[in-house]
Amino acid sequence: MKKNEIIELEVESLAFGGMGIARKEGFTVFVKRGLPLQKIKAQIKKIKTNYAEARLIEVLKSSPLETEARCSFFGVCGGCLFQNLKYEEQLAQKQRQVKETLEHIGGFSDLKILPILPSPENYYYRNKMEFSFSDRRWLTPGEIESGKIIEKDLALGLHVPGIYDKVLNVDECFLLSKSSNDILKKIRSFTRASKFAPYTTQDHSGFWRFVVVRESKRLNQVMINIVTAYHKNGNRIVVELARELKKEFPFITTIVHNISRKKAQIAFGENEEIVIGPGYIEEKLDSKLYRISANSFFQTNTLQAEKMYQLISHWGDFQKDQVIYDLYSGTGSIAIFISDMVKKVVGFELIPDAIRDAKVNCELNQVNNCEFVEGDLKENLSDPQALSEKWGKPDTIIIDPPRSGMHPKLPGRIMNLNPDKIIYVSCNPSTLARDLKVLCETQYQIDLVQPIDMFPHTPHCETVVKLTRK
Ligand code: SAH
Repeated sequence: MKKNEIIELEVESLAFGGMGIARKEGFTVFVKRGLPLQKIKAQIKKIKTNYAEARLIEVLKSSPLETEARCSFFGVCGGCLFQNLKYEEQLAQKQRQVKETLEHIGGFSDLKILPILPSPENYYYRNKMEFSFSDRRWLTPGEIESGKIIEKDLALGLHVPGIYDKVLNVDECFLLSKSSNDILKKIRSFTRASKFAPYTTQDHSGFWRFVVVRESKRLNQVMINIVTAYHKNGNRIVVELARELKKEFPFITTIVHNISRKKAQIAFGENEEIVIGPGYIEEKLDSKLYRISANSFFQTNTLQAEKMYQLISHWGDFQKDQVIYDLYSGTGSIAIFISDMVKKVVGFELIPDAIRDAKVNCELNQVNNCEFVEGDLKENLSDPQALSEKWGKPDTIIIDPPRSGMHPKLPGRIMNLNPDKIIYVSCNPSTLARDLKVLCETQYQIDLVQPIDMFPHTPHCETVVKLTRK
């Protein structure tokens, strides 16, 4: 096999992360956008000791597992990777990935892995989407062929994968809601007609940076967050935009303006001004109410998050006399969800703003048995005796870390606390497998594994694992 060589392959399955896996002369070849059972022509781009990476050039024979993608931007836009793979097959691939990752990285065998929980909705399932402005619009092949003069100076939409500065005007998107597409169109035409330019990373000039739309699926509240650079007249134009939006889309319940002076391209402002409404939306999971502001974290798939929290409650089999530690507690959503069932929940969280939101959410729900400890878990969990004296020894520990998993010191510290039960919620099977391996070397055993599809059409997979002391 040589670099740039064009070869024919048959894709076997999907790797963790979403690449198609094929084999040639015993060698593994990863092909982006290759789907299981497709026969393809691909060009070798990279050769390593154990594997190669290739670019899909042509599908020679389609796969029986394929289906028609619903969105006309599919294939160009970076939002979805698998709209063209039947949903049942997406689920089967994720199920297999969780199993294989736990076996290969964790060294487990004979695990009880329950069938993956499909998302209640596989379109319009998200409650938050972030759209970027750019002065460089990415044109689709159709737009180029049409030969029409296209406004290229301002785009508002999603990034094209691998091209950091160009943005695709997504006129339709099936991830958030139908109405969000109309709102985006209106913002696009307003901002283009304004005297302000989109922000550009070329020289960090310009004004318009991001639009973040958040929707409460249960309570029908909608937040529009306009993120801009600083300009002395900036607020005036945003207020004007907000008024027009509210007039045309009366169902928008709040509009906020975030101002970011930072060069980093993240939709987060150092200053926030509330332009219309209360500055937050509310969402309901079971009987609990959550207040979500522009910069606070909330699980993205509302209906599936509720199912996941119900599962945590079920597996926790919580009792009224129990103390629960909720590690990586974020805005306290799990802690609050289970608070009625136990004596006390102690949340541990790094970000002070998240703890502030968690406390507001406790008040909102008249919950007064949750406490939150601010700081890095690596330090805050180091003295098990002091923790037990202060908060009570934990009966169950819930762990919900970011993609990187736990700090290497944490499994040992959790074992020193010696809870009867651990519930590990993970968004990354690889780091999950690594952490479980340490927890299960001596002290714990895996009782049950539940993969959960939180993000249909993407390679991500959530997993909840129940562990008990051996
Ligand atoms: N359990 C929450 C959110 C989990 S997201 C929910 O279901 O809504 C992971 C959280 O871990 C984030 O809020 C992040 O700020 C926090 N975090 C990341 N590293 C941390 C660390 N070293 N110590 C404490 N918290 C951390």
